[in-house]
Amino acid sequence: MRCNHKSCGDKERVWLPYEYMGRERGLKPHLFCKDCGLLKNESSEKPRRIGYYINVIAEIGREIKITKVQTRLICKELERQGIDDNYGMDKHMQENLFTDVLKHYVNISDEVICRHLKPK
Ligand SMILES: [Zn+2]
Repeated sequence: MRCNHKSCGDKERVWLPYEYMGRERGLKPHLFCKDCGLLKNESSEKPRRIGYYINVIAEIGREIKITKVQTRLICKELERQGIDDNYGMDKHMQENLFTDVLKHYVNISDEVICRHLKPK
């Protein structure tokens, strides 16, 4: 079961190291979920909605053959792995997950995926 995430209060924040642009930038108070203990992702790289990734699949589909069944399996897997969990995911994590899942179902290179994930 996926957790709906209930944030702890501001006073309960825990001080932990945080990373920004791949480098550690000291300690920062983090919010966490009272139910599952997951830390809230406070990266500046805000997650995108799942619809964004579904559009990217459609776009890639114009370049590389992706069947309807594959698209459905990819979407299901992305949902199962919580790509729309905007509490625990940031954009970077979403893109990694998206790349992994896509490559599992479709014969596609990182280069093609990267090109389509880039902001236009
Ligand atoms: Zn939770």
